[in-house]
Amino acid sequence: MLPQIESLLVVQDRDHQLQTLTKELEKVPRDAAAIKERVMQANAEFTTAKENVQQNELAVKKIDLDRKTRTTTIDKLTVQQFETSKPDEFAALGAEITRYTDMVSELETQELECMEKSDGLTTALKAAEEKLNVVKAGMPAEVKALTEKKGNLTTRIAELTAERTNLIKDIESGTLAIYDRVFAKKGNSAVSPLSENQCGGCHMKVIADTISRTIQEKELSQCENCGCFLYSV
Ligand SMILES: [Zn+2]
Repeated sequence: MLPQIESLLVVQDRDHQLQTLTKELEKVPRDAAAIKERVMQANAEFTTAKENVQQNELAVKKIDLDRKTRTTTIDKLTVQQFETSKPDEFAALGAEITRYTDMVSELETQELECMEKSDGLTTALKAAEEKLNVVKAGMPAEVKALTEKKGNLTTRIAELTAERTNLIKDIESGTLAIYDRVFAKKGNSAVSPLSENQCGGCHMKVIADTISRTIQEKELSQCENCGCFLYSV
């Protein structure tokens, strides 16, 4: 193998590592946002559950008040009915008492429904509170782990970048410029094996001249299709 190819392969290996680490580093802000989003979500669910309980309690109070008002009215009407001597008025008051009694009955049904709903809402509130506590409790450790990850990645990237700077000193500038251009264009390689007359970078068959120059290893050869430097295996 040509010494230039050997050097370029080492640089390419560092570039692959740098690509992987950079992608990992780019994910850190998204992971941080996801942690924050989870807390906000749990907080919103807890607030909604709390509001649901409060609204139901308010509804019960309102129904209870309405029921008491109507019961008082029934009591008054009953007294009036007892006191009257006019049959028409007696009948009219009787109809009113029935109407109010029906209303009280309807309110009692509504109150019962609210009471039944109350158990489910209280359970939901408890669950939302527990979830919020779990999410909140786990948050510092998650943030710490993420901060450490970011630190480690940044350090490793700096180390690899320094290493790469040293490695490229041995490579002729024109060759390096081609390598950098092809790597950037292809996104993942600029030095590939030639196998069964195919370029490992683009999987296209290369021409006979390229094959012979690659096998002879007297000078650098490039795939005429994608520009990758080739080496025979
Ligand atoms: Zn190619």
